[in-house]
Amino acid sequence: MQKIALVTGGSRGIGAATALALALRGWTVHVNYIEQKEKAEAIAKRTGGIAVQADVADQQQVEAMREVTGPVSLLVNNAGVAQSGLLTDITPQQWKRMFDVNITGMYNCCHTYVPDMVHEKAGQIINLASILGTMGGSFEVPYSATKGAVIAFTKALAKELGPSNIRVNAVAPGYIQTDMTAQFSEEDRAALADATAMCRIGLPEDVADVIALLAEAGTRFVTGQILGIDGGLII
Ligand code: NAP
Repeated sequence: MQKIALVTGGSRGIGAATALALALRGWTVHVNYIEQKEKAEAIAKRTGGIAVQADVADQQQVEAMREVTGPVSLLVNNAGVAQSGLLTDITPQQWKRMFDVNITGMYNCCHTYVPDMVHEKAGQIINLASILGTMGGSFEVPYSATKGAVIAFTKALAKELGPSNIRVNAVAPGYIQTDMTAQFSEEDRAALADATAMCRIGLPEDVADVIALLAEAGTRFVTGQILGIDGGLII
């Protein structure tokens, strides 16, 4: 199979860094986005792919995206949303949206792109989990729950697709400096940096480089794994 990848939510943050890291290693990378067209187009220009709008939570939009991109040999399920707050302050709409994007979006993309991979008996899927998927986070109950679901989804799908020579892994980042974590105060950041063995918050490239390594043929016997990228979290 040709080295053609799709990164969902590739317009900013970890997704954009991942698209660029993959392109450096010879992948043609299609860049999905929901709102930030210009940013997505700028990344796609550098990765040789197409910038394609689709709300991953919407199965029909994902199928329309597949019509534009064609089959891919690597799917990076990166698109995600987070909403912090006391569970009792989270509205049913916010709860539903986090599950719709973070986990149903993953189902929609796999449901749409996996049949091509099964046909080729080759392919890879890399999902964005989070350390909160195992640790849980205060004020992050729904987000943590979606990421716990991503971990179970990854392990189960790896078992299902292994016989078709398709690998499924996830990365579980710690705190990474992106728009998603932009609301953290300087104080919070310092505390989070202190809580890592590496004494710093992560950068999108810290995650992107690991995803690009996982995508390499040298990891051909690695599947069903959840790889922590957290600078050695010590809390
Ligand atoms: P970010 O900077 O907020 O970027 C989110 C990306 O997802 C954007 O490209 C956005 O597109 C896209 N997106 C959002 N909703 C979408 C939808 N419904 N359909 C398609 N695309 C959608 O986020 P990030 O921090 O890079 O996070 C990327 C992934 O890593 C997420 O799954 C997140 O949960 C996970 N993660 C992040 C951290 C962290 O500390 N940052 C830690 C652990 C895990 P537009 O630009 O068009 O809006």
